Amino acid sequence: MRQTQLFTKTSKQLNQEETSANAQLLVRGGYIDKLMAGVYTLLPLGRRVVDHIEQIIREEMDAVAGQEVSMPALQPKDNWVKTGRWDSMRDILYTIKDEAGHEYTLGPTHEEIVVPLAKQFIQSYKDLPISIYQFQSKFRKELRPKSGILRGREFLMKDMYSFHATVEDLDAYYERVTAAYLRVFTRLGLQDVTYLTYASGGVFSKYSHEFQTVTPAGEDTIYICDGCRLAINHEIRHETPHCPSCGKDQFTTAKAIEVGNIFKLMTKFSEPFGLGFTDASGARLPVIMGCYGMGLTRLLGTIVEIDHDEKGIIWPEAVAPYRVHLLNLSKDSVQADAAYASLQAAGVSVLYDDRLVSPGVKLGDADLLGLPQRVVISQKTGTNVEVKLRSQPDSQLIPFDQLLATLTTPNV
Ligand code: ATP
Ligand code: MG
Repeated sequence: MRQTQLFTKTSKQLNQEETSANAQLLVRGGYIDKLMAGVYTLLPLGRRVVDHIEQIIREEMDAVAGQEVSMPALQPKDNWVKTGRWDSMRDILYTIKDEAGHEYTLGPTHEEIVVPLAKQFIQSYKDLPISIYQFQSKFRKELRPKSGILRGREFLMKDMYSFHATVEDLDAYYERVTAAYLRVFTRLGLQDVTYLTYASGGVFSKYSHEFQTVTPAGEDTIYICDGCRLAINHEIRHETPHCPSCGKDQFTTAKAIEVGNIFKLMTKFSEPFGLGFTDASGARLPVIMGCYGMGLTRLLGTIVEIDHDEKGIIWPEAVAPYRVHLLNLSKDSVQADAAYASLQAAGVSVLYDDRLVSPGVKLGDADLLGLPQRVVISQKTGTNVEVKLRSQPDSQLIPFDQLLATLTTPNV
């Protein structure tokens, strides 16, 4: 992509309203645009990052036999009345009434939709287990959305729901999804700072599990066990003085952001909708459920919180909008155009800064945008080009004809 063609431009202005690093950098870089508090547009660069995050999650959900669907955001009141959540979640629901008096909510989550949907296809134990997921915009009246894209009132979530004949089968699947979640965070480069965290389970199970990424921008407080890699959310710390996994009672306190949350729902939602199945002996039993959430736009912001310096973003290669930022600092564009053409022909994703602006502006924007590899072509470098990793301070000069080979070898 030529930067002269890019829809967005970077901006130097610090936004007074945005206090979080993720919002400042993503807005200034032209990744996102704020429409109003907690509501953002994903611009082309931001959309590409979220697409990469989404694809990683999709691959890992498919690997645990998830089947992808898309359920509606507009949901009828009746479904929510059936579970009692029209009243109990009233504070966070965006509700709508049409001219005919029908009422709806914009979905904050999808149990009320997925359970009656599953009921159409699950009759017997032979139809179980099954697991379906989607990527969807969720709507919640968050009272004080102040953490940039970390806490939206409209935000993207991956939500998966699993259906089982027995609690043992749910337990085994829950472990598989836990492992899949950890693989997602590893692929996103968050493995060293993300902790499987015991949190409250609600009425139906003792605990749920959150995936908490440690960052000063986090709104949650977790206690990380000194004996193992597990953590406990402060909301249940008083009732859980020992690590539920290894039994130790020494913890390190940290601020963290919840990037994922998985629950054993048991029969909480299958009962109100009468979602049952016939077992091998012909008996009718309620379906046992699990649910598994992960926030995509929250992950976008979290990655920026973890991976930035005073100059800008430092994208991990797996999610970067483009892998290479090609900067032409020469007066003419012959060499840079040739480099751009050969990188494109080789399938390397590249943003080409072909703008007629000063070298200082280009270098500053490259640091702000944070693409993993920077390639500079200038009069000074002669027949060489300068290659630099965004994550490293030092650059390296290489002959022009070795550029392609260097960039297609991992870690320059
Ligand atoms: P929080 O405690 O942060 O408000 P939650 O427990 O209400 O989140 P869940 O219902 O567990 O959230 O949602 C599943 C996932 O969706 C969360 O782990 C998080 O990654 C994401 N998420 C939840 N609320 C938001 C939000 N307002 N903005 C962006 N992502 C969110
Ligand atoms: Mg949660």
